Amino acid sequence: MQSPSAPGPQVDLKIVYDAIVVGSGAAGGMAAHVLTAKGMKVLLLEAGKQLDTTKELKSMEWPYDHPRRGEMPPGYHPLGMNEYNVRNPPYAKDSKYPHVESYVQGWNGPDYSKNIVVDEKDHPYTGSKYAWVRARCVGGKTNIWGRLALRLSDYDFKAKSRDGFGEDWPISYADIAPYYDKVDLYLGVSGHKENLPYLPDSLFQRPNKLTASELHLRAELAKMGRVLTPYRAGVTTDGLKHNKYRSKCFGRGACDRRAGGCDIHAAFDSPTGLIRPAMDTGNLTLRPNSTVYEVTVDKSTGKARGVSFIDTESGKTYEARARVVILGASTLESARLLMLSKSSQHPNGIGNSSNHVGHNFCEHVMGPGINGLVKDLVGKPRTLDDGRPGSFYLARFRNLSDKQSNFIRGYGYEGSSGTTMIPGNAFEALGFGTSYKKAVRDYAGAYISMGAFGEVLPRYENGVSIDPDVKDKWGVPVLKFNYHFGDNEKKMAADMAVSAKEMFEAAGIEVVSVNREILTEGWSIHELGTSRMGNDPKTSVLNQFQQSHDVPNLMVVDGSSHVNASCQNPTWTIMALCWRSCDHVADELRKGNV
Ligand SMILES: Cc1cc2nc3c(=O)[nH]c(=O)nc-3n(C[C@H](O)[C@H](O)[C@H](O)COP(=O)(O)OP(=O)(O)OC[C@H]3O[C@@H](n4cnc5c(N)ncnc54)[C@H](O)[C@@H]3O)c2cc1C
Ligand code: SF4
Repeated sequence: MQSPSAPGPQVDLKIVYDAIVVGSGAAGGMAAHVLTAKGMKVLLLEAGKQLDTTKELKSMEWPYDHPRRGEMPPGYHPLGMNEYNVRNPPYAKDSKYPHVESYVQGWNGPDYSKNIVVDEKDHPYTGSKYAWVRARCVGGKTNIWGRLALRLSDYDFKAKSRDGFGEDWPISYADIAPYYDKVDLYLGVSGHKENLPYLPDSLFQRPNKLTASELHLRAELAKMGRVLTPYRAGVTTDGLKHNKYRSKCFGRGACDRRAGGCDIHAAFDSPTGLIRPAMDTGNLTLRPNSTVYEVTVDKSTGKARGVSFIDTESGKTYEARARVVILGASTLESARLLMLSKSSQHPNGIGNSSNHVGHNFCEHVMGPGINGLVKDLVGKPRTLDDGRPGSFYLARFRNLSDKQSNFIRGYGYEGSSGTTMIPGNAFEALGFGTSYKKAVRDYAGAYISMGAFGEVLPRYENGVSIDPDVKDKWGVPVLKFNYHFGDNEKKMAADMAVSAKEMFEAAGIEVVSVNREILTEGWSIHELGTSRMGNDPKTSVLNQFQQSHDVPNLMVVDGSSHVNASCQNPTWTIMALCWRSCDHVADELRKGNV
């Protein structure tokens, strides 16, 4: 394993690259990997800085070895739930704190991720309430993601055919399955086969072990036809012989102690999983601190010519040119770029003749969940349960063979339990002094909790647009949100709490608390759908290979292409789709069709 911070070849702005990739997260990193492996010369422009996360994350540092027990320095403020609930963005405007960061910086050990997430003061947005979490550095949000790596199925790709809402995707599971396999094998994913048609299995490496309470709940849920499975983690548990930048997971129990991040890169992150291997081909040029603010257009053809970008340190602007421009700046940033790129050929923003860019915005609704106590485990000897990169996932069970009367689509739960180094719920034990300490120890391994992630329907009226009146630190107009949960999400959320309680009660788990409140829009960090794929250029932005219907040498390979959100976490699908699209565009370029 090597440090991931080595520089690449020099940028040459006089040449025409085969491809420019914008953004270096899951999407951009994957595009860079696939295209450079095919011998294409790729320029990767990343708005954020180059960070050496191997040094930055310090996953194994104990709170008492840190001067502030992992807290950020004075002057840094993480936004709290109430700030999102009560106020409207821009949330950092007029804040007395020099630095304001998103809510994930309110979790344990925020000092280690403070340079990864953005400072809201530099990156404002306006409009409706939205808890937007962004990471601007090489690797983007993959440096701290939660790694739940799930596949979608035809229950998602063909959801409209099942319930009539929205649109079907222009692909089916059979089209993407070989690419999910490639992602699994190249990056590593741990899990347990369940043979579920609505949550397809990956090519799994060694799964996490379930705890005693999880095994008990799994067995009880099986009687109800529901499936609790070990957390499907985008983590290599067996190791990857082809990647010298990543180690296998040693179950160091560090996953649970921070917002995210793994300093030995057992958890997938784009810099070590994709970008460093791409650099080793000699075909990749990475330029950090390069914020793209426009896709430039060849006036004679209307095709993409390249991109204009700002050096975020010097403030100087440049143009880079390429045969194909690939946006992977994340769902909302790519939509922003398309809308910012207005020209006489594309007066509505490039690729936006359908007027669908920024619309059909969807994600996951969160909040409802449950906390329970497995009484048989109180006072039992402690077990090592946080030596694993995740706990469990309870797969969707609504609107599969049944039909709910008041909402469509479904939700799954992410959960956790067991004895961990930091004993979580047990801090709420009653007592004082020695008896309190004993109570904390006795109860530490006996709690089990889970929270739901539900599909938010893609609706045309939910979206983002450019706010011409507000600009970011570099003078680029920002996004304005017009995005609200609807009736379906609210009814689904009510059901999440009811069914969580039913399941715990059926399993004989004492219900300690049930949360019924919905968290602010955006909390899931799974934004999707703002440039959706489709067969009809009038109602979609991209074709099935994520190429713009209007501009064939322009692609958008991040979550903006998703036609619906499903209830499964999106990152594995983003990378599988991107791999498929880049295979296709490389062929098309070779044939001279792009
Ligand atoms: C705490 C946390 C937990 C998560 N948990 C999970 C999970 O368990 N499972 C899951 O599937 N997903 C999870 N996610 C979401 C996951 O991280 C994203 O789905 C994934 O990173 C999206 O990849 P992306 O490439 O589209 O965007 P990003 O990873 O955000 O990368 C986009 C990159 O583009 C750069 N960029 C933006 N604008 C520009 C511009 N104008 N010019 C140049 N560069 C630009 C950014 O700086 C960034 O580096 C989580 C995210 C977070 C933060
Ligand atoms: S448990 Fe595994 S994936 Fe998590 S931080 Fe430790 S080594 Fe990395």
